[in-house]
Amino acid sequence: MINATQTLWAGSLFSRPMRFARIGFALAVISVSGCGPSSDTEQAVTFTASNAATSAEWPLSGGDENQSYYSPLTNINRDNVTQLGYAWHHDLPAEHGYETTPLMVDGVLYGSGPTGTAFAIDAVTGESLWRFEPPVDLGFIRKVCCGVVNRGVAIQDDNLYVAALDGYLYALDIHSGEVQWRADTFIDRARGYTITGAPYMAGDKVVIGNAGAEFDARGYITAYDAQTGEQRWRFFTVPANADGPHEHPELELAARTWDPNSLWEVGLGGTVWDAMVYDAKLNLLYVGTGNAAPYPRKLRSPDGGDNLYLVSILAINPDSGRLVWHYQTTPGDNWDYTATQKMILADLVIDGVARQVIMQAPKNGFFYVLDRRTGDFISAKPFAAVNWASHVDPQTGRPVETDQAEYFAEPKLIFPGPQGAHNWQPMSYNPETGLVYIPVKEAGAIWTMPDEPFIYQKGGLNSHSQYLFTTPGEWGLDSPLAKTLPPIEELAEGQPDTTIRGFLRAWHPVTQTLAWEQETSGPWAGTMNAFWNGGGVLSTAGGLVFQGRGTGDLVALDASTGEELHRVYVGLSMMAAPMTYAVDGQQYIAILTGTGGGNGNDYAPGMAAYDYGNAGRLVSFKLGGGKVPLRAKIARDEGALTAPPVARLDAAEAINRGEVLYRRNCAKCHSNIDGRGSGIPDLRLMSTDTHATFNQIVLEGTRAERGMGSFADLLTVDEVDDLHAYLIEEAWRHYERTTKTGEWHQPNAQ
Ligand code: CA
Repeated sequence: MINATQTLWAGSLFSRPMRFARIGFALAVISVSGCGPSSDTEQAVTFTASNAATSAEWPLSGGDENQSYYSPLTNINRDNVTQLGYAWHHDLPAEHGYETTPLMVDGVLYGSGPTGTAFAIDAVTGESLWRFEPPVDLGFIRKVCCGVVNRGVAIQDDNLYVAALDGYLYALDIHSGEVQWRADTFIDRARGYTITGAPYMAGDKVVIGNAGAEFDARGYITAYDAQTGEQRWRFFTVPANADGPHEHPELELAARTWDPNSLWEVGLGGTVWDAMVYDAKLNLLYVGTGNAAPYPRKLRSPDGGDNLYLVSILAINPDSGRLVWHYQTTPGDNWDYTATQKMILADLVIDGVARQVIMQAPKNGFFYVLDRRTGDFISAKPFAAVNWASHVDPQTGRPVETDQAEYFAEPKLIFPGPQGAHNWQPMSYNPETGLVYIPVKEAGAIWTMPDEPFIYQKGGLNSHSQYLFTTPGEWGLDSPLAKTLPPIEELAEGQPDTTIRGFLRAWHPVTQTLAWEQETSGPWAGTMNAFWNGGGVLSTAGGLVFQGRGTGDLVALDASTGEELHRVYVGLSMMAAPMTYAVDGQQYIAILTGTGGGNGNDYAPGMAAYDYGNAGRLVSFKLGGGKVPLRAKIARDEGALTAPPVARLDAAEAINRGEVLYRRNCAKCHSNIDGRGSGIPDLRLMSTDTHATFNQIVLEGTRAERGMGSFADLLTVDEVDDLHAYLIEEAWRHYERTTKTGEWHQPNAQ
């Protein structure tokens, strides 16, 4: 694909305004704290592509067409993995966390980063070949639930595809990074849409979904001609209304599974924010759909119904855009149980019969094996603690809900919690061992209905339910909300263990049994940080399983037993799945570092990000490599916290109203938890200047260039005053607690 010797451009495309000017793009420098354009300067470089003839590639995000996150390479294996060490690294600018597994084609690694940046890096030397920075409207950051992340790129022929946060799908020339075409994939830019997912190839089409279920969005995917960017079809995952006209025939069937009085204006969710996989032989594109919005089904679709095609696996013919089959994992979703988790195709012998299957471990805690030709249910068993359903009926393929599942009338402790028993972190299937390796989150959540009535917010958060994790602290069991609920001992009686923990589990998909597990909670069992070590997984024919950890370790385990064989200290927190490739007989393991995403933005002591920051880095490893060079440690001054620069208010009602507004509009980003976040300010520590200009920041977007867009469409002046009153009170409460305990961690920049 890349000729032996070629002149390419290194550095940011920002340094070439003429090209953008010619095709009419507005330039916008990404300048969220710590998220600037590449510091590389533009320079012509000559490079010699690695010898493609002997390279073992990783051409799709899941490695192979089955999306296995598995490699047949054996040079690095269980006998020699202790010699694995550092090969090279390439620093990347963003601090928001990387969820991408790079692709390797013809000796070049391709990947993406926060907001939809893309890069090409020599797979042997780590040198930058080109870098792409889309002009992104940072006002969309406001609409992201789980971090300003991006989950990867797709490649076909001479094009590389990447989607930007603000909804544009780009086709780039793979040799230069030059834009070939771009498409606006959003149907309404004022609603809750963003893109954090990767595009997927399906024959001669490139397909992209979007995120935003909680934020006022009606889910859909769109297919474009891969060469020209012309739109070919669009498939909506939920109807727009009860009676039509519907955009395509599948929605007529779907509409019958909704109450005619459903909250249609809210969009209802079902966004396809991550998982697709394409079976070229069957010519079927499999699509995982997201959760419902608002969450409580009795509010959303009062008369009940399955609510198709929420939380489903869809099989679509990519030529026609028509649905071939569907399977809904969670009819009548009530708990944010997306089915967007990455799916793996495999050929298994089950009960003596060869089956072509598709496998998924979605948030709801059941591991599914379906016939991928027909969608027929084969089996489903819980791979984590589950109490919302007793089992999945093998005759009907439907879950059998328990009494514990419904929280509309009274609070309930429900497993798994809304983080899911498994989320976007890729699982891996190793055909040598026959096992699927799953990063598992063990946690329930207390669900309860808020006192306030539901009010639809265009472009705002519309999830409505409240949930609380079973962790101590002011955002957990010691929170004001927790004090209004029955004690946890009462809620947890007869339910699974409430200790929050993370695991890497090896699951046998044929027998639906656990082969082995390793706890990955690290020092954080019992807190939500227990998931920081639960990154995506790679397995290899060398008998190995690799996982990057929040502690900064790349860990290699024996694929058959789970025994830890080796760990390399990378000095940076990781959550993306590693990948592997070989050039000239030399096998490498590579991973993108940087944590965040749904794990949140506050780093606890013990995390590499706490010590070394969270700026991204692509790191490659090989046998005989040395130690990874570490960044300079962050200087920490944990001196006394000074008092807030504004006087405490005597305004209890405003403070209470402000807390509700804060949770609805602000808390997704500004979590206000002690620790060092990725540049997102702790609002309890606002400066004099921030207090003085609070209303302008929130309503006029005066800090939009830092990712804090205007909320003028969602909040009134009075409401902003209430919010401010709450934050002033929070600042004083925090100051008092800190003064009393003497415990606090370095705050974020203001
Ligand atoms: Ca969700």
